[in-house]
Amino acid sequence: MKGYAMLGIGKTGWIEKERPVCGVLDAIVRPIAIAPCTSDVHTVWEGALGDRHDLILGHEGVGEVVEVGSLVKDFKPGDRVIVPAITPNWSAVESQAGFSTHCDGMLGGWKFSNTKDGVFAEFFHVNDADGNLAILPDGVDPAAATMLSDMIPTGLHGSELADVQYGDKVCVIGIGPVGLMGVAGAALRGASNIYAVGSREACAKVAKEYGATDIINYKNGSILDQVMEKTKGKGVDKVIIAGGDVDTMDEAIKMLKPGGKIGNINYLGSGDYIKIPRVEWGYGMSHKSIIGGLMPGGRLRMEKLVSLMLTGRLDPSKLITHRFEGLDKIEPALMLMKDKPRDVIKPVVIIK
Ligand SMILES: [Zn+2]
Repeated sequence: MKGYAMLGIGKTGWIEKERPVCGVLDAIVRPIAIAPCTSDVHTVWEGALGDRHDLILGHEGVGEVVEVGSLVKDFKPGDRVIVPAITPNWSAVESQAGFSTHCDGMLGGWKFSNTKDGVFAEFFHVNDADGNLAILPDGVDPAAATMLSDMIPTGLHGSELADVQYGDKVCVIGIGPVGLMGVAGAALRGASNIYAVGSREACAKVAKEYGATDIINYKNGSILDQVMEKTKGKGVDKVIIAGGDVDTMDEAIKMLKPGGKIGNINYLGSGDYIKIPRVEWGYGMSHKSIIGGLMPGGRLRMEKLVSLMLTGRLDPSKLITHRFEGLDKIEPALMLMKDKPRDVIKPVVIIK
């Protein structure tokens, strides 16, 4: 089969590989719709995970099951399925402890395009099919459903990590597609003021549609100063970090009220340390919490999140700015994520 792969740091291209083998608990899936991700860009062009050779990229997609292992109970060939980016081993002790993301070691639930071939191929392998796949309900657009693999669960996890409560003032730093779902998540959980930090017009417009009350553009001055001015010097209750770099934590801590919480869902692709400002962190005694987490994957989460789409509470199609047709279009779609022209939020490739 053919697949679009990371050939080495900074290099991508098409390769030929053997079709993956289906274990007794697993499934082999043919993609119906796939999406490239900024994570793919960090992995390839920043070498964030270290070097990878001939590793097929991609972790966002929906597909059709073509084969299942002998112990798979709930799925069969022909089923159309949602595939989460994070596919934990559900029998691992870390999963039993509630941290399926870190099964078999830190971030071990992140397998696609990290420790095994991803979804940008004619076929891909899903471990623990009963635990990780979810049926794609009739009437849900497969292109929109690709946002269930990563953008929706990751963005919404930001509001879970930051523990957004009714009436909270929340700052969402970074309004790419994940940050936009962070805004949507904060709104769903009852935030009052949502300050969305970003400069691109396309993203700002969609951020308002998802519930942002204010757009903070760093081109108009320091984002910290702007947030402090809008909150009359008090700061915000919660911060969701979905963009920026190792220096962003400094601003997040400074704009946070004592007792506030920061949920980081940003993939830090470079830099060695994250600085915490001593004074604004209350000399170590501010009760300002920081938690960073990769979203849990798995079937239950996919089933719950698709129900938000079915009931109309969340419409991820606003994220999709570019649609391509045919597996071979994954290359131009990925380059859009890499080059980020101002009108792009998220491209999707539809495969017939
Ligand atoms: Zn992704």
